[in-house]
Amino acid sequence: MKITIAGAGIGGLATALALTAAGHDVTVYEAAAHILPLGVGINLLPHAAEVLAGLDLVDELLAQGVATRELVYVNRFGQRIWGEPRGRFAGFAAPQISLPRGGLQLTLLQAALRRLGPERIIAGRRLTGFEAGADAAVAHFETAAGTTGSVASDILVAADGIHSRARARLYPDEGSPIYSGRMLWRATSMAKPFLTGASMIMAGHQNQKFVCYPIGAVQPDGLQRINWIAELVVAQTLSREDWNRQVDASVFLPRFESWRFDWLDVPGLIRDAEAVYEFPMVDRDPLPHWSHGRMTLLGDAAHPMYPIGSNGASQAILDARALTQALAAHADPVEALAAYEADRLPKTAAIVRANRQNGPEQCMQLAHERAPDGFARIEDVFAAGELEAIAARYKALTGLVKPPA
Ligand SMILES: Cc1cc2nc3c(=O)[nH]c(=O)nc-3n(C[C@H](O)[C@H](O)[C@H](O)COP(=O)(O)OP(=O)(O)OC[C@H]3O[C@@H](n4cnc5c(N)ncnc54)[C@H](O)[C@@H]3O)c2cc1C
Repeated sequence: MKITIAGAGIGGLATALALTAAGHDVTVYEAAAHILPLGVGINLLPHAAEVLAGLDLVDELLAQGVATRELVYVNRFGQRIWGEPRGRFAGFAAPQISLPRGGLQLTLLQAALRRLGPERIIAGRRLTGFEAGADAAVAHFETAAGTTGSVASDILVAADGIHSRARARLYPDEGSPIYSGRMLWRATSMAKPFLTGASMIMAGHQNQKFVCYPIGAVQPDGLQRINWIAELVVAQTLSREDWNRQVDASVFLPRFESWRFDWLDVPGLIRDAEAVYEFPMVDRDPLPHWSHGRMTLLGDAAHPMYPIGSNGASQAILDARALTQALAAHADPVEALAAYEADRLPKTAAIVRANRQNGPEQCMQLAHERAPDGFARIEDVFAAGELEAIAARYKALTGLVKPPA
């Protein structure tokens, strides 16, 4: 089948690779003139890593990052609330991988250039509109210089991110992404390893949070690249969601000045940042439909969600697998896209909603409400089994369920 993908982000590239491996004839069009390895750190959950293992990419990704060993939730004093093993350490076939987003995107891009051929990864073409007729999907593109052109194919997959043009065309009244009232500041810093050296931690509560995890090996000087995200309630945002907007750490550092745990120096990490990027935490309401005849939405274009629970890239990669499977199961493209939507839309809508209720981080908020000044024993704060139940509920919702041994 001839397939056009708009967007060479993680979702678009993973889809291109999965569909090409299944024998389809795929071309990717990307709006940016040059596909650059942008972003700070990102997490690949084991079910998404398994999809990439099926595409022979996991060893390459692991070499650029860290196999996350555990996820630990702590309060604003650094006291441990809950912790659990992750990835292979939790018995999954594939690892959970923490790595630079640019490395993930570049690995996917290089694989796509090799497997699809460079002539099928076309940069500098912005999707501006489409017609999804009975016999073909026609995608309209324009270049930065304003030249326009159209491409007809059997299917159009719009993986054009949170500001998706295709989504805006389908739902013209939707407007901008919905601001959560919380601002994120993201950066990396070189620092001494903390806890296991492969631990991901979430500290604080819903109105003030700090997340960090290593995304590289320990260097000869004993330091490791740590990705971190500081989060605060900020009443109002006027900024458009731009992943690359740099700000000065002085905007938020004073609020974290006292967060010096005996195992992690949060203000120290913030001070050592190379560059800090600001991003308002936004999402969009789940849609009634993604597929319209021969076109469909995928990744952030379909289900932008709060970056809670490491699901942004992982769910886009799961979309790629589901779309490939639907096309294998249904000869008719319209039926295949409807089946893909029926599989993925309800699952991702449930994650969007759960993330609005703090997702797995609910345990931090409960700990804060019940013991705002800290605790001597976590057993005094949570009933037996309560923490396990919160973690298990979210994992089941996001599809992170370990197959039986
Ligand atoms: C520059 C950047 C930096 C990011 N940094 C981080 C990070 O540090 N940590 C993190 O967790 N997540 C980050 N994300 C988000 C994360 O990558 C996504 O949430 C997730 O991977 C889902 O991927 P996606 O492919 O659906 O969307 P995206 O990764 O947003 O990719 C969408 C792609 O489509 C292209 N595009 C947009 N409009 C059009 C159009 N009209 N026509 C053709 N192409 C178009 C964009 O240039 C982009 O390459 C970043 C995203 C971007 C774009």
